[in-house]
Amino acid sequence: MPVYLVGAGPGDPELLTVKGQRLLAAADAVLYDALVDPRLLELAPAAAERCYVGKRAGHHALAQAEIARWMIARARRGLAVVRLKGGDPGVFGRGGEEMAALRRAGIACELVPGVTAATAAAAAAGVPLTHRGVAPGARLLFGAGVLAAPPAPTTETLVIYMGLAQLKGIAAALLVQGWARATPVCAVERASLPDERVIAAPLSRLAAAVRRAELRSPAVLIVGAVAKPPRAAAVRPPRAAPELPGLILMAHGSPLPDWQRGVHELARQLAQPGQFCSAAFLPPVAPGLGEVVEAAAAAGVRRLAVVPYFLAPGLHVRRDLPALVEAERRRFPKLELALASCLEGHPALRTAVLSRAAEAMK
Ligand code: SAH
Repeated sequence: MPVYLVGAGPGDPELLTVKGQRLLAAADAVLYDALVDPRLLELAPAAAERCYVGKRAGHHALAQAEIARWMIARARRGLAVVRLKGGDPGVFGRGGEEMAALRRAGIACELVPGVTAATAAAAAAGVPLTHRGVAPGARLLFGAGVLAAPPAPTTETLVIYMGLAQLKGIAAALLVQGWARATPVCAVERASLPDERVIAAPLSRLAAAVRRAELRSPAVLIVGAVAKPPRAAAVRPPRAAPELPGLILMAHGSPLPDWQRGVHELARQLAQPGQFCSAAFLPPVAPGLGEVVEAAAAAGVRRLAVVPYFLAPGLHVRRDLPALVEAERRRFPKLELALASCLEGHPALRTAVLSRAAEAMK
């Protein structure tokens, strides 16, 4: 069975391909990155092993060689392995390196394409990347590459990934290279997610506009005549949608697949449209609180409630959970992380018991 390198798309879980969804549903083991939405992980069977190999801001959760070793070991045991990568696995995703490592080990692998940030950003801005008579092509570049070797002026559209941190330098390098000061650019933050933002500005004013709007990663730049978005916020950042606090249903780490499935299912039922809502488990079951909080932070959630899916306040509720939550507060000081009480004493329990009794007597 080949290892599948599956593109998870740019953020919106609906942008996963049907093929990706099918492979996830049949996976025994899933490796996933930081920008992957936790709702996609719920498509895998509850019993599937999930491993987080995220890299954010230079911090590698697992080194590239370890990622390959992990996949190879499982593939050799005949397990169905899905490597879920943000966007398209072959676009600035080190998919090529992972494929090469697998092939060196004699393991077949297949790429399943995903919606890459460039096309997602163009859709968010409401612009095409190529346009007959205006932009005869488009190039995907990455920020450091543009800085090192700025492309000469062209009618082709440039889409620049990972360019936000060096935006000022990139704009200056393009201007020095002869790009017109008025070249339209749009910067698209969190394309395809509910809080996506599009900032449009001429090249010469781009850095100031992006700074004013406090745009943050992940974002791409679309540079060229097509980049005149009808939906751009110009310089003013658009209103932030009122944000529903995220919800983490924190359950016992029982290894029983049925139990885990049930908790995931309840988390799914609890989610409001657009709300971050996920199950997490006490060790040794994954995903643990740390992984889910990390995913929530990566998804831009700023407020999160952890609700213990426990009836009574035993040691897990009194001791383990507060310690785990406190550790996450230290890791994510900007995140508002609240720990709710367990379910004991909730008025709905009385109704639930009475309703179960009535069902049994039928
Ligand atoms: N393989 C991914 C790219 C990984 S590199 C893909 O095909 O999209 C990570 C960079 O992708 C980020 O720094 C950012 O430039 C871009 N990116 C990823 N998701 C994005 C999103 N939802 N909106 C804007 N840019 C995004």
